[in-house]
Amino acid sequence: MHELSVTQNIIKICTEEANNHDVKVVKSINLHIGELSGLIPQCIQYYFDIASKGTPVQGAKLVIEKIPVEISCSSCGYNGKLEKGKYSCPVCNSFEVKITKGREFMINSMEVD
Ligand SMILES: [Zn+2]
Repeated sequence: MHELSVTQNIIKICTEEANNHDVKVVKSINLHIGELSGLIPQCIQYYFDIASKGTPVQGAKLVIEKIPVEISCSSCGYNGKLEKGKYSCPVCNSFEVKITKGREFMINSMEVD
């Protein structure tokens, strides 16, 4: 159900944008989804196709870019990506890390006709 509310939000924001700029057809919507956001791109497109009927964004293709997880290590100062499946610092193995990227969800841009 998480994806459904997120999708309705996307449709609401993009419909407002389209109306503000007198856009009739939205071709695609570019989204950034963090790997830790827990959102499944296929689900978003599925809900989007259903929920966008009758809105200016109906039929738009969702172009989803996954944002990898990045951390900042307070032990050695490392900033950057994690090794896959690990939640410790790849340099010093410390768990004193803060997640700096990968939780975000945002609408990056919209392509219109
Ligand atoms: Zn470290």
